[in-house]
Amino acid sequence: MKWTKDAKDDLSRVPFFVRKRVKKRVEEEAVRCKSNQVTVKHVRTCREWFLNRMEEEVRGFQVESCFGPGGCPNRAVNSDGLTEKLEQELNSRKLKAFLKERVKGPLKMHHEFRISISDCPNACSRPQIVDLGIIGACRPEVSDQDCSECGACLETCRENAISIENGHPVIDDSRCLSCGQCIPVCPTGSLKEGNIGYRIMVGGKLGRHPRLAMELAGIHKPEDLMMVVDDCLDYYQKECLRGERFGEILGRTGWKVPQVDKRRKTDEKNRAF
Ligand code: SF4
Ligand code: SF4
Ligand code: SF4
Repeated sequence: MKWTKDAKDDLSRVPFFVRKRVKKRVEEEAVRCKSNQVTVKHVRTCREWFLNRMEEEVRGFQVESCFGPGGCPNRAVNSDGLTEKLEQELNSRKLKAFLKERVKGPLKMHHEFRISISDCPNACSRPQIVDLGIIGACRPEVSDQDCSECGACLETCRENAISIENGHPVIDDSRCLSCGQCIPVCPTGSLKEGNIGYRIMVGGKLGRHPRLAMELAGIHKPEDLMMVVDDCLDYYQKECLRGERFGEILGRTGWKVPQVDKRRKTDEKNRAF
């Protein structure tokens, strides 16, 4: 649907974390008014609605993603369909009813459990400030192919995480962000795809006491991702007493999701044998 410039400007002033939802409502309002374009009047009507009847809009969760699935060339993983999968899982947990039992007074958007997916470490969808941030990761590995010392990987890596030593590439794990960008530029195949999956951040939030999310150790395989998400949600629902955000819960219990931690230790043990 077409938007007038004033309407677009007005929408851009709506806080980013509810903008998508407000936009959908505004377009529905324009349709209801039988208008073929969105005007400022439709935006303002919806803003009033959100301000006065917010609880009706609360779903109990939000899932956002970056533009990766639209074809962004920086994607480290293909997460097509992940948003829908996560929404299905969150829906099945009836989080609105769950929060209603715990929160004193009307529910607000900031009570919702938020998940954000970014398909690469550029993190355009701000996974660091939500309850569960998912970041696509592709870790390079050095293969047994000869390196021509062309320097393409050195030029590409924005983290200065690669050096060439004795004719071989060496990756500094403490610097590498697993963006995977150095792999396709390597003409000899000396750098190949290693671990592909997701980095997971937990406990980020904005508001009165903002906090950046903490990263759970490791890169989680795509086939394990939903298990990790389930572990986090189980822990959140077990420990959430008054509708606190995940970060507040983790702050109280020691910044660990016990199930995820246990699984990681078991995996490491299995790999050691
Ligand atoms: S996070 Fe990465 S993949 Fe997603 S839109 Fe930004 S640059 Fe593209
Ligand atoms: S994956 Fe990204 S950060 Fe890591 S070495 Fe390659 S280009 Fe650098
Ligand atoms: S891009 Fe590949 S061939 Fe070129 S220096 Fe890096 S590892 Fe060696």
